[in-house]
Amino acid sequence: MASFAPAIKIGAQMVEQLLIHKDINKKEAKEISINMLQRVGIADAEKRFNQYAFELSGGMRQRAMIAMALSTMPKLLLADEPTTALDVTIQAQVINLIKDIIKEYQMGVIFITHDLGVIAQVADEVAVMYLGSILEKGPVNKILKNPKHPYTKGLLQALPDVNNLDEPLRPIPGNIPSPLDRPSGCVFRTRCPNASHECSQGMAEMGLIEVEPGHWVDKCCINCG
Ligand code: SF4
Repeated sequence: MASFAPAIKIGAQMVEQLLIHKDINKKEAKEISINMLQRVGIADAEKRFNQYAFELSGGMRQRAMIAMALSTMPKLLLADEPTTALDVTIQAQVINLIKDIIKEYQMGVIFITHDLGVIAQVADEVAVMYLGSILEKGPVNKILKNPKHPYTKGLLQALPDVNNLDEPLRPIPGNIPSPLDRPSGCVFRTRCPNASHECSQGMAEMGLIEVEPGHWVDKCCINCG
């Protein structure tokens, strides 16, 4: 949302990056940009194309940035929380757009998000990360239906149950340690409900092992059960 240059119109920024990446002229770049703004659900795209970032709402700026990223049709798109702060309708539009473009242009996406609902909709493969370490990874259905690591289980348990909204939420206790003060051994041990004596002392060694085809889990966790 804060990535557009404030003193240059949205359209000029979109056109500039297209001219750098593609062998097209300014008129074609403008057409592609306006079309992409329309595809991410921005009404009156031509008018928005000629506006500055401060004239757009936060959600619109986010969608315009997504349009800009997609307009060059990259082989691999790194999307870091691309749907955060969007309302669910626009979020669904953006997810569907990204899915369509993946199919249309055979594009790969690394989608970074804390939203498990979004992961269930977009991902084939998931890597669950904590403090910069991958604790569990594999196909999305295996990770969401049969999580092995306490952190993955904690994330799933923390989701509100829409069929039982009176049930108290079950957050993962504690806070994420500072990256400058990483726990030794298992990085999750300061918040883990299942820590064995060995891992709570920071003696366990981390590293992934395959527990079923394609499903990898941190080995110190498997060892301490
Ligand atoms: S290794 Fe031990 S402390 Fe770390 S997540 Fe697994 S059970 Fe918990």
